[in-house]
Amino acid sequence: MNVLFHTTAAIGIVAMLTDTRTKPHTATQMFLPGMLVFLAGIASHGALDYIPHCYPINSKVDAIVGLIVMITLTMISKNTYRPIVALAFLGSIFPDLIDLSIPIINKYLVVNLPKTQKLFPWHWEEYSGSIYITDCRISTVNHFILLVTVTAICYCRKTDIKNIITCTNEKSAAV
Ligand SMILES: [Zn+2]
Repeated sequence: MNVLFHTTAAIGIVAMLTDTRTKPHTATQMFLPGMLVFLAGIASHGALDYIPHCYPINSKVDAIVGLIVMITLTMISKNTYRPIVALAFLGSIFPDLIDLSIPIINKYLVVNLPKTQKLFPWHWEEYSGSIYITDCRISTVNHFILLVTVTAICYCRKTDIKNIITCTNEKSAAV
């Protein structure tokens, strides 16, 4: 599925799994929510690649805009939550980084690195939901369901989102 849809899912994961009532202060307290969002990002990637989907966004635009969105949202997150946000985005694209990096490098750098068996089963032909025919109606429905779901999650968790991304100074806010 397009990177931007995986990015969208990661935003929903951060909103759903980050409870800002309990601030993580130490690396140990950060570890559990960080691992949780990272693994949820991988799981969401699997679900999104498994369901039937087309690629409505041009691949170069998709990769560039996706990267800009991930970097921007990570940078505007408070220091406390920045690792969690970054790990959610990393998890959401991690399977593609592992399985698709070599083919992309071969294509764009015109080199011939050896191809390996894809690690994640949703990238295997028998389990991938990629549609390469022209009828993308079911894909459009699936993309729409994703967007509605993430929007609903963000709406329900708007207080947590504000606490994650507001630009208020953490020290003065804590006083
Ligand atoms: Zn993938």
